[in-house]
Amino acid sequence: MAAPETFELLCQHAREAALLDSVAYLLEWDERTLMPHAAGPYRAEQFTLLSALAHQRQTDPRIGEWLQELSDSPLAADPHSDTGATIRELRRKYHKKTKLPQSLVEELARTAILGQQAWDDARRKNDFGSFRPLLEKTIDLKKQQAECLGYEECRYDALLDDYEPAETTSNVARVLAGLREELVPLVAEIAASKRRPKHELLTRRYPEEQQRVFGTEMGKRIGFDFNRGRLDVTVHPFCSTMGPHDCRITTRYHENQFPSAFFGILHEAGHGIYEQGLRPEQFGLPPGEAISLGIHESQSRMWENLVGRSRAFWEHSYPGAQRAFPEALGGVPLDDFYFAINDVRPSLIRVEADEATYNLHILVRFELEQALINDDLPVADLPGAWNEKYRGYLGIEPPDDTQGVLQDIHWSAGLVGYFATYSLGNLYAAQFFQTAQRQLGDLHAMFRRGEFAPLREWLRTNIHEHGRRYTAAQLVQRITGRPLGHADLMADLRGKFAPLYGL
Ligand code: ZN
Repeated sequence: MAAPETFELLCQHAREAALLDSVAYLLEWDERTLMPHAAGPYRAEQFTLLSALAHQRQTDPRIGEWLQELSDSPLAADPHSDTGATIRELRRKYHKKTKLPQSLVEELARTAILGQQAWDDARRKNDFGSFRPLLEKTIDLKKQQAECLGYEECRYDALLDDYEPAETTSNVARVLAGLREELVPLVAEIAASKRRPKHELLTRRYPEEQQRVFGTEMGKRIGFDFNRGRLDVTVHPFCSTMGPHDCRITTRYHENQFPSAFFGILHEAGHGIYEQGLRPEQFGLPPGEAISLGIHESQSRMWENLVGRSRAFWEHSYPGAQRAFPEALGGVPLDDFYFAINDVRPSLIRVEADEATYNLHILVRFELEQALINDDLPVADLPGAWNEKYRGYLGIEPPDDTQGVLQDIHWSAGLVGYFATYSLGNLYAAQFFQTAQRQLGDLHAMFRRGEFAPLREWLRTNIHEHGRRYTAAQLVQRITGRPLGHADLMADLRGKFAPLYGL
């Protein structure tokens, strides 16, 4: 068969797989937003059928034959062209799917379900011991997974690759260690500062309906397209794409808490703007897909933190916020509000952490999971190691495991290698933003005028439209002219917090 015809068959197959996935995503979105509780068991049957169908398709031996045929064709010659990237990434995906024995895949899935149940119980009872056997099993299975997939330097590489393709442990460790060296002292300086924001003004009454209206308006202004997307309510917010013109974001409202829903909306809208910036005609194919979790997170963190928590953003938006919440904010000066939304303090819980200390929570997890996977730390010693790192990096120690090692669902669900992507997101975001600023001029002056389109368009043409034509590292090098480093993020953090805390 001629290469173009084979390529068409391969693409057709991939598009159908995406079609099937999108049905599962729609069902999942429904489950997490609207589905009545009693519908759960039947929904589980729907998912089981869909995932069996998807697995069959993903491991279809014809894919291997097509890829074999295409490997030497001119279509694969330029790895950064749409056709080259399609062949490269579909090959990568196919190899991953076919390298793992079915028995291991099933064992991982079963252990993830049991693990989450055991974790949930253990967390409620503050009893790490009852979770320990399942975590040991999970770590053991993840090691087997890494051995099956293969790696160059260390087992952890193979697991990281699931979330941050083509990235290496040693490179991430290098960048995060550099960040740690400078961030730990900055956080300690902030903790020692006498200045404190008036946190109370963010816990006044913010009626839910006004939060929805104001959040929707700001989501629209930064560029989330509500014609091709929606905003709904859920318990654990997420962003999900179920078609080239259907991207859904979610949030949760607390009437006595302004930041959670508002910054949550900006965060998810950032993810959504990335999804909406992908080329619709490439939907279901690698050139129409996001690169990695880290790059995805860079988009959400940029809109949430670098834009949404900047003073310039609020010079534009604060009068609207005061109109939306006259009771809570009517008499509050902008400076007080701005300081309050940039409250930095070492705390125990990752998901409640601020922009600066967040990365230290990630460092703890990144270092510990590497140690677990590379046989440097037995699961039994994990709680002690956790507490020791919190003392060292954040200067505080969890009073119990529920507020310590048991707080996150990830490890119980078999998500090992995932945590680093959160901090990578912050690092990518800072480096991209710095470059955008250099190329576009004073971004903060634009935000002050309510102009967000220049940054959004810059992100679209430099990042979104390429899909997976480049790896994350290649994209960073291509856009910013240098490899990923920690300097821009540290400059942002120090630049923002030194004046606020009088450092
Ligand atoms: Zn996110």
